[in-house]
Amino acid sequence: MTVPRLVTEIPGPRSRRLHDERTSAVPGGFGVTLPVFVARATASTLEDVDGNELIDLASGIAVTSVGAANPRVAERVSAQVSRVTHTCFMVTEYEGYVRVAQWLNANTPGTHDKRTGLFTTGAEAVENAVKIARAHTGRAGVLVVDEAYHGRSLLTLGMTAKEHPYKTSFGPFPGDIVRLPNANPLRGRPVDEVLAEIERIVGEHGAESFAALVVEPIQGEGGFVVPSPGFLPGLREITERHGILLVIDEIQSGLGRTGRLFASEHEGVVADLLLTAKALGGGLPLSAVTGRTEIMDAVHPGGLGGTYAGNPVACEAALAVFEVLDDPDLLPRVGRIERAVRGHLEPLVDEVPSVAEVRGRGAMMAIEFADPGTLAPRADLAQRVSAACHAAGVLTLTCGTHGNVIRLLPPLVIDEAILDTGLRLLVDAVRTVTATLTQREDAA
Ligand SMILES: *Cc1c(COP(=O)(O)O)cnc(C)c1O
Repeated sequence: MTVPRLVTEIPGPRSRRLHDERTSAVPGGFGVTLPVFVARATASTLEDVDGNELIDLASGIAVTSVGAANPRVAERVSAQVSRVTHTCFMVTEYEGYVRVAQWLNANTPGTHDKRTGLFTTGAEAVENAVKIARAHTGRAGVLVVDEAYHGRSLLTLGMTAKEHPYKTSFGPFPGDIVRLPNANPLRGRPVDEVLAEIERIVGEHGAESFAALVVEPIQGEGGFVVPSPGFLPGLREITERHGILLVIDEIQSGLGRTGRLFASEHEGVVADLLLTAKALGGGLPLSAVTGRTEIMDAVHPGGLGGTYAGNPVACEAALAVFEVLDDPDLLPRVGRIERAVRGHLEPLVDEVPSVAEVRGRGAMMAIEFADPGTLAPRADLAQRVSAACHAAGVLTLTCGTHGNVIRLLPPLVIDEAILDTGLRLLVDAVRTVTATLTQREDAA
């Protein structure tokens, strides 16, 4: 069977009818990338209610890294659902929670003694990391980076950089959050200058006022920005010198996504607190804060928790995800995904003037559209190329502070021939869209 399999236009008539119903039942504040209703999935594809089968280069935003219908996840989850669905870990305990904590303590970077607390969403992990850091340091301030994304709750929105659509009309946000410059190799200044500027900003506010610096090792929503080499080690050095905790947000980049178990490993940086979510639960809501025991234990008994935090069904799903990650064939597979993406997309940088860069690591890759020379962001091109991919049966996502980046987040277990097809269709879309636009500009 060949995919993508298109039996109607995208979206098809059933999806369109359901979307109309959605519009009269769900508030307009929820956006949608592609209004197609999904009925089932394979490791590499999503099948919609009209019988179309789309190539999945999104993984539900880096969540279904082991595939959106992984048999190991299904097996462990169904077994757990028929045993017990929920007790609340703060009421009575269950083994899965402990096993998930042990795996994260053993497999996150650093050989120091660790503890892991489980929560439900990524934003909740970020919020709890800030709570823990404040309890440990007795300080309030939080440092974040330009173009950062840390979630949609009110504290994490304050930490997130992009104004629209995330923050528009939702303020005021919590105080004590200070933003630092980023080391974006395409647009930023040299890393030494950026680090010197950060040192200056930290000093200006008083280093002793900051509990934590929270940073993504590769920015997700911000545009798949791989920081200049030396940036993360520089932050590690600055935070250590000032007694500020380094919190590494691996919610999008972690758990094999970049070809290493954690993206911070590429630069050999060890966090004080490391955050996971997204891929952790294999599609079920689960997040974690893993950190140095003396920091994690700074919180008084009863200070951490949540009704659903570390739900037993989600924990079983995570244990299934760990089985896949423990397979020695998995990370080499992610390396092959990166090579395939680079092989298809990198030639476009020379061929198409408005393709500014192809970047990323492992199965977290992106292509940025900008005007040659000025690097003025071209969100219109990213949107049109993405729309052309959708029409051709390939699910892609955009990202970036200016919306001018297409990001590729295929399941780590995607079939290599299907990935190849998806990439060829993406390349076709880039060529077609940029050629038509150039012609129009010429005619104008
Ligand atoms: C998605 C994401 C979050 C927020 O996770 P939610 O589960 O949506 O709350 C935080 N940080 C990063 C880097 C993310 O990609």
